[in-house]
Amino acid sequence: MTSGHSSAATADPTGRLPVAGPAEVRRALAGLVRADGRAFAAVLALNALAAGAGLAGPWLLGLIVDEVRAGGGVDVVDRLALALLGCALAQLLLSRWARYAGHRFGERTLARIRERFVDRALSLPASVVERAGAGDLTARGTADVTTVGTTLRDAGPALLIASLQVLFLLGAVVALDPLLGCCALLSWLGIWFPLRWYLRRARSAYLDEGAATSDVAEVLAATAAGARTVEAFGLHGRRIAASRDALAQARRTRLYTLRLRSVFFPAADFAYAFPVVGVLLVGGFLQERGAVSLGAVVAAALYLRQVTEPLDTILIRVEQLQMSNASFARVEGLALAPRTAPADCPDPDGDRIDVTGVRYSYDRGGEVLRGVDLTIRPGERLAVVGPSGAGKSTLSRLLAGVDAPDAGSVTVGGVPVAGLGPDRLRRQVVLVTQEHHVFLGTVRDNLLIAEPAATDARLWAALGAVGADDWVRELPGGLGAELGTGAFLTDGPQAQQLALARVVLADPHTLILDEATALLDPATARHTERALAAVLRGRTVIAVAHRLHTAHDADRVAVMEAGRITELGTHEELVAAHGAYARLWRTWHGEPAG
Ligand code: ADP
Repeated sequence: MTSGHSSAATADPTGRLPVAGPAEVRRALAGLVRADGRAFAAVLALNALAAGAGLAGPWLLGLIVDEVRAGGGVDVVDRLALALLGCALAQLLLSRWARYAGHRFGERTLARIRERFVDRALSLPASVVERAGAGDLTARGTADVTTVGTTLRDAGPALLIASLQVLFLLGAVVALDPLLGCCALLSWLGIWFPLRWYLRRARSAYLDEGAATSDVAEVLAATAAGARTVEAFGLHGRRIAASRDALAQARRTRLYTLRLRSVFFPAADFAYAFPVVGVLLVGGFLQERGAVSLGAVVAAALYLRQVTEPLDTILIRVEQLQMSNASFARVEGLALAPRTAPADCPDPDGDRIDVTGVRYSYDRGGEVLRGVDLTIRPGERLAVVGPSGAGKSTLSRLLAGVDAPDAGSVTVGGVPVAGLGPDRLRRQVVLVTQEHHVFLGTVRDNLLIAEPAATDARLWAALGAVGADDWVRELPGGLGAELGTGAFLTDGPQAQQLALARVVLADPHTLILDEATALLDPATARHTERALAAVLRGRTVIAVAHRLHTAHDADRVAVMEAGRITELGTHEELVAAHGAYARLWRTWHGEPAG
């Protein structure tokens, strides 16, 4: 089952967030390089210069050998040795500078990736995140972005340097003597086979490993978030089994990548010896026949021994590159996730909310809403009551556009609510539940989320409207006080009041309160609800009511039972009808039912 807006191409039956394909990854990488093109060109140039300076050493050594063999003077050898020193120094300075430039490029690019990730994560529809699980998104935003970051910071520059060194060194051997060069190149082929074997398997192996890591995070996050439920229903055994499965899968995928590495690296190490041996054998043969000088053979052997180090770097880093390629594919996959707000969605015409023939089920479990019809007039105050599990919260989520129904429609002013983008939705319908988040930052930051352009005076007015101005005024710094970890810790009721103040600022025409004041003590709750009611006069308010006085004060009451609305009318009508609501009302008053 898919929400109405996920396209078939990217919808994953398990609800996992998509992963970018190789072509998309390449495009994204090219885009990142282009975005900082000049810096990247500078990094390349500096590394080429450094590698070039590094070539002088063996070549000068070869010259010294030939000079000594020819019985040349000490002063010539001295001059050559001095040049050797100068080149070593130049290489040192140039490679330092190259590394510095590389790191700067890497950090800037990483910042770009992080910012884009946050932008994309924020524009994901809540339903997509819910289906995929917050754990997957978290793993991508933390572990995967870190892996990509390490590559950009360390592996990328190192790989670049090493590749250029290998290229230059092999080029130098060819330049010294084409025959020796050919021999060296041929013997490098030995490494080609293990490398191909490895690369063929690595991408999918590391992708599997990443997915398994996500699953572990997901299972643990779900257990932690639902700890109370787990305890209440005695689900320990099931959660432990789920964790064990996820860990076993993670272990399997890790062992597989480990096996790939443990085959590949020894094979590669063995292959290193071939070129040096080959050049010494062929070189010795040629030198005996006078086809090459001894100096050239010495220089070629030195070059090839030098290749080992950068090549080692490449092989180690290639592994890291594979891993971060998989990570980057997961990070970039966010771009492919279904988005809210199709651009062609028209503006709502009026504020009336229509629920028509709505059916809905969560991915796990049966149908929760089983044909709901409801029209909510602008300015009406509707209370929704009913037993726990009847589907009241689910209905609120659909009314607020958090998700789209499987069948039927939920529209505001004739437009599907779930199709409105976050910005337009916020002005129309806002859902307030018990789950509030206080963001790290000042009180002001926490409020401006709802209305970025609001002045301090408006912020105070909003705080006053929900009765939160007193405690905020007492904070050191008032609106500028830092909230959250390490600073002032807000408690549940305070967080709830901040959330309600945000609603006042967003000023939507329709407000859905799902136990929004449940964390407040009854006196404060009543006070807050009254204060809110004053602010929200003329607004449509739909309240999932657990205290029946809310229902009593409402214009109409809807009773939900087992996914259907079974009664709808004013408090008086429903009490007079002697149905479910009347029974609830009597129980609530402590009168004997019946
Ligand atoms: P109410 O608000 O009336 O207590 P809900 O809408 O919260 O009812 O829940 C209705 C049914 O949907 C319940 O059986 C509940 O277990 C199920 N449900 C709620 N949320 C989810 C979810 N995220 N995934 C699967 N099932 C859910």
